[in-house]
Amino acid sequence: MINLISDTVTKPTAEMLAYMLEAVVGDDVFQDDPSVIRLESKLATMFKKEAGLFCPSGTMTNQIAIKVHTQPLDEMICDHYSHVYQYETAGYSFNSGIGINLIHGTNGKITAPQLEQAIKPVHDWLPISKIVVLENSCNKGGGSYYTLDEIEPISELCKNKNLRLHLDGARLFNVLVETEETTEEIGNLFDSISICLSKGLGAPVGSVLLGSKEFITQARRFRKVMGGGMRQAGYLAAAGTYALDHHISRLKEDNLNAAKLGSVLSQMPFVDSVRPVKTNIVIFDLVDGITAQNLIDELKKVNILAAPFGPSTVRFVTHMDVTTEMINQVIKELRNIPLA
Ligand SMILES: *Cc1c(COP(=O)(O)O)cnc(C)c1O
Repeated sequence: MINLISDTVTKPTAEMLAYMLEAVVGDDVFQDDPSVIRLESKLATMFKKEAGLFCPSGTMTNQIAIKVHTQPLDEMICDHYSHVYQYETAGYSFNSGIGINLIHGTNGKITAPQLEQAIKPVHDWLPISKIVVLENSCNKGGGSYYTLDEIEPISELCKNKNLRLHLDGARLFNVLVETEETTEEIGNLFDSISICLSKGLGAPVGSVLLGSKEFITQARRFRKVMGGGMRQAGYLAAAGTYALDHHISRLKEDNLNAAKLGSVLSQMPFVDSVRPVKTNIVIFDLVDGITAQNLIDELKKVNILAAPFGPSTVRFVTHMDVTTEMINQVIKELRNIPLA
């Protein structure tokens, strides 16, 4: 099977599993697990943040960040494609009691002028604009990304207007291998950052939230109340440490494979258009009369798995369990598909 459904489907390599087995562990609720502490400090140092917090998922790190940064009756500003809006079960409302102010940006990206327009004046009858979330890369935007010069004016504006800026960096390293910008430069521009270890980095579980000491102290309380305090979590954290040591530079391969798929797809008679391919995600629309399910069924017959992303939209995601040979196989099969 060639699984293009998501980069979350990767399984730990033999080397990663061996490394996990050797982890020295303790009880992380008592802050006594050396492998968790090691992962948290490693990422905090990389991004020049004071502290980190290992959590079971990226949804939890995002939700905790929103919770710490806001009070009920505040609002969050983000692009309408954002994961925090689309795919976190309206958790901003449930967990934090806040409203949402959506910007219709371009491929999931907003600009400083758009943000400036969106920030609400202070009146009794309006929610208080309190937090801005950027997603880098943006999943629904087809893996689009921000460069530093695009983030800088947004960060500046947030500082001037007293808004917190959170980065949903689930796939940030897929971006940094392209832009060659540094983790410190990114860290500098945000109040808090969420990094997923279980996407392209290939760890089985986990995300890390980064921020100031004070922020992480509060975040730890919210992690506990959400049920995310884990005990001998060091076995899982070790997988994350291993991934950071060994799986970052290879993300370039995933991005290249996605670019290859994108350019072949754009020539297929059954494809209407492909969103610009920037990292490891390829989102494309099918021509009239062909549904996402039609294509997915055909691909399944030749052992290729993909996910529908709308009635006539399909998403392919490349990752470390899909080799370049497998991509060549996918391309061969795409050319033989009996559609249109
Ligand atoms: C996957 C993802 C998350 C977090 O997902 P979990 O499955 O909860 O770990 C957050 N943001 C983006 C952009 C994602 O792709």
